[in-house]
Amino acid sequence: MTTPKYCPNCKAELDDIDIYQHFYEQYKDEAKAIESASHYGWTKESPICFSRCIGIYCREQDRTIQRQCPDCDHVWDCDWYAKHKEKDETQET
Ligand SMILES: [Zn+2]
Repeated sequence: MTTPKYCPNCKAELDDIDIYQHFYEQYKDEAKAIESASHYGWTKESPICFSRCIGIYCREQDRTIQRQCPDCDHVWDCDWYAKHKEKDETQET
């Protein structure tokens, strides 16, 4: 699942600090930081950032169904959940 880079409502940037950078500041050790960052899917070729975006988890679906912007509190559906709801609606009619 990809984390959105921008809020669809206020367009605020949702990327936080680079994951490797975060661990490097913690450990002051390049190899250790790379190892920890890799657990989050970070690689030198495609570095990723932590996200300020708030995930709304659904116990029933057992996954994140919606996201919330920390700046404007706007809530929107994850791509898969929007599709999922669409399917349900067409089944009803
Ligand atoms: Zn926003």
